[in-house]
Amino acid sequence: HAKENGGNQLMVYNPSYSYALEQYFEIERALRDAIGTEQLQLHLQPQQLPDGTLVGIEILCRWQHPELGHVSPGVFIPIAEKSDLIVLLGKWIVTRALEIAAQLPEQLTVAINISPRHFRKYDFVYFIERQLVRSGVSPNRLILEITENLLVDDIQDITLKMKTLKETGVQFSIDDFGTGYSSLSYLTTLAIDELKIDQGFVQGIGHSNQDKIVETIISMGQHLGLRIVAEGVETKEQLDFLQRLSTDVVCQGYYFHKPMTFDDFKALTFKG
Ligand code: C2E
Ligand code: MG
Ligand code: MG
Ligand code: MG
Repeated sequence: HAKENGGNQLMVYNPSYSYALEQYFEIERALRDAIGTEQLQLHLQPQQLPDGTLVGIEILCRWQHPELGHVSPGVFIPIAEKSDLIVLLGKWIVTRALEIAAQLPEQLTVAINISPRHFRKYDFVYFIERQLVRSGVSPNRLILEITENLLVDDIQDITLKMKTLKETGVQFSIDDFGTGYSSLSYLTTLAIDELKIDQGFVQGIGHSNQDKIVETIISMGQHLGLRIVAEGVETKEQLDFLQRLSTDVVCQGYYFHKPMTFDDFKALTFKG
């Protein structure tokens, strides 16, 4: 189409585009330098049953740059995903997350977000297995969060990797469930253990149609024998609604706790 329209429209100087591009490269370069330094930290967000019982945590990456300030993972993860920088970052996150997991009570699961590009690497399975051995963390405490978008291409390779990891005990969760583009058929053909209801649906509780979506996901998950996590639980009303549907639904969100440093988490769980 570009050619039909004269082709060189893209060459027209656009100051905001070039500014955005500069910023993009600045973030990409700064992130490369930040890996392995104090700038990058892993925060922990508790996952609890409706009665408050702690069952696990999700690891969420935080970046504090001396000049750029706090950069949100919503900004830097997509930039890292444009190249193999996400593999470097993903490896650092998994390694550090398992070091943390090794210091937590053994009944707690640890969920880590995995980018599709990292998952697709030929040595992903080997890398995870090696880090599990190295850290001494029992594989069945590890939950890898993937999104439906991973399940669109290369499904044979993905299936094989999931099956191999599953055999060691590692669990899989579908993050942001209900927002992706894949069909539901993978729920029965792949080694899925958990669905995380997207926070958009959870925050819609109280608005009739959204209620029905949450209800339907929970009921479908239960029929398939999957664990259900509701993320982004912010209010008592949302919690009560979820609890009425199921006392097993795992809740994660500001109503209980925001993501916190490892030290704050230790203070929270090991006090008296
Ligand atoms: P996600 O995995 O779906 O994580 C949930 C996001 O919701 C987190 O944002 C979390 O801080 C936020 N959240 C938790 N509870 C509440 C709540 O009650 N209300 C609201 N409004 N938000 C809540 P965060 O930490 O900014 O991360 C955003 C996204 O960035 C994540 O979405 C994930 O896709 C990605 N991400 C974060 N850390 C990592 C990482 O270590 N590796 C990879 N690959 N991606 C990561
Ligand atoms: Mg997640
Ligand atoms: Mg999510
Ligand atoms: Mg997300």
